[in-house]
Amino acid sequence: MTHTNDPVIEALRASLAADPTNIPVWLHLADLLLAADRPTEAIDALRNALQAGAPEVETSARLIPLLRATDQVAEALIRAEQILAATQHQELHAELIRIHQQRGDLEGATQELQSYRERYPGADTAEWDEAQTAAEKPDPDTSSGETVAATPREAADKPPAAEDEEPPHDPQLNLIEVGGSDEDDDDWASQFDWGDLHVTFADVAGLEDVKRQIRLRIIAPMENQDVYRAFNRKAGGGILLYGPPGCGKTHLARATAGECGANFVAIGIHDIVDKYWGESEKMIHALFDEARRKAPTILFFDEFDALGSPRGNAGSQFWKTMVDQLLQEMDGMQSNNDDVLIFAATNVPWNVDSAFRRPGRFDRTFFVPPPDLKGREGILDMHATKLPGGDALSLRKIAKATSLFTGADLKSLCERASEDALERSLESGVVQNVTQTDFDNELVGMDSSALEWLASAKNYARYGNEGGQYDELKKFLKRVKRW
Ligand code: ATP
Repeated sequence: MTHTNDPVIEALRASLAADPTNIPVWLHLADLLLAADRPTEAIDALRNALQAGAPEVETSARLIPLLRATDQVAEALIRAEQILAATQHQELHAELIRIHQQRGDLEGATQELQSYRERYPGADTAEWDEAQTAAEKPDPDTSSGETVAATPREAADKPPAAEDEEPPHDPQLNLIEVGGSDEDDDDWASQFDWGDLHVTFADVAGLEDVKRQIRLRIIAPMENQDVYRAFNRKAGGGILLYGPPGCGKTHLARATAGECGANFVAIGIHDIVDKYWGESEKMIHALFDEARRKAPTILFFDEFDALGSPRGNAGSQFWKTMVDQLLQEMDGMQSNNDDVLIFAATNVPWNVDSAFRRPGRFDRTFFVPPPDLKGREGILDMHATKLPGGDALSLRKIAKATSLFTGADLKSLCERASEDALERSLESGVVQNVTQTDFDNELVGMDSSALEWLASAKNYARYGNEGGQYDELKKFLKRVKRW
C-alpha cells in the first residue's frame, strides 16, 4: 500500500545516501516512516541518527519505546540502562519497567518500580498499581498464601523482598558475576577456553595472504590506536572467517590473539543455545561485558551460522532476540571499545544473516582456504618432524601428494602414518622410524576432506557473489582448476 509520504521518504533516503551524517534528515525520515506505519524502518533511521551523533538521550527516548513495541527488547534494555546509568529520565525509567515486564524479568521490573517511586514520589503509577493489587491477592492454589505473580506485568509490582532476605537464586546472574569471590566463578571460567597466548602466527603454516591482511587491518590498528584515531579510523570490530572445516579458522583467530597479546575466548554458538535456552541473550551480554573488562580481548564465535542464519528462516522470537542482542553488542562495541575484536567462523557464510555484514559489524570477511604447497609442507613439518625418523622424510614429496588437504587432514595423516611405525615398534620391541612408505600407504584411498565443501561452494561463488563477497573463494577455485 502506498502512502502520501512515500515520495518524500524516497527523496530523504536519496539525500541521506549522499550524506549519511545529516542528523535532522534522519530524524525527519524517522517521523515520516512512523506516520506511514513503518516502525522497523523508523528504528533504523533513529539508530542511524544516533550513529551520526544525534543527541543521545532525546533520540534514545524516541527509539527505545519503538524497540520494545517491535519486540526488540534486548536492545531496548541495553539502551535504556545505558542512558539511565548516566542521567535521570522519568519517561525512560518508566519504559525500563515495561521492558523488564515484557522480558518476563519480574525481579528487574520490581526493583525498577521501587526505585522509580523513590525517585519520582507522587508520580502516577496507576499503570502498575492494578497489577500490584492482583499480584498481592493470595493465590488460591498455594496453601501458604504466598503472593504469586500470574503474568509478567502483575509480577512487576510484586512487593520487594525485605532487605535482609536472601535474593532469589538466579544461576544466570551468578554466572555473570565474574571476578567476584563467588564459587560459581569457577563454573563460569571453566565454560570457556581462554586460549593459549603462546600460539602466534609462527604456528600457523601458510595462509600468508590472510595473515598479512589480519596484520594490516586488525593487529596494526589495535597496536597503533593513537595514529588511527588521528585519521578518524577505529580499531576493533568484527572479522568473519569462512572456509572448509579443518583449514585453521580457529587456529588463526587464536594466533591473532597471541600476536597482539589479547585475551582469547572461544564460544560455540550451540553451547550457549543448548545450555542457556531462554537466557542466551543475557549470556551474550555478559560475554561482551567480560570481554570489555578483560580487554584487549578477542571473542571467537564458532559455528556462527547457527546464530546468524537468516532471521526469517530461524522463525522463533528467541533466535531473533539473540541475533538482535549480538548486533546491538557489536554496534555498541564499535562506538565505545577499541580493544575488543570479534572473530566469527563459519563453513556456510551464505547462511549468515546479511544484517551482520553491515559496516561496523563483520565488514571484513576472509576466506581461509586449504593450505597451498608451502603451507602443507609447513603443517607437515610441525607434526611429522616430531616423529622418530621424521627428519629423514621428504615433506615436499608428501605435500605434493596432498593437494587440497586441510590442516586437519594433514595432522591426521601424520598420526596414521605414525601408528604404522608404532605397531612395528611394538612388534620388534625397538623404536622404529616412520618412513616415506608409511605415508604412501596411508595416502592410498585418502582424499581431501574439503572436496565436498569446495564443490558446493562453487555455486555460491558463481551465483551468490553479491558485492564481490566471495571473490577470494572464486579466485581460489579458478586457481585450483578443479571446478
Ligand atoms: P572447523 O570449521 O571444523 O571448526 P577450523 O577451520 O576452525 O575447522 P581448526 O580447528 O583451526 O580448523 O584446525 C584444525 C586443526 O588443524 C587444528 O589442530 C590446527 O592446529 C590444524 N591446522 C589447520 N590449519 C593449520 C595451519 N595453517 N597451520 C597449522 N596448523 C593448522
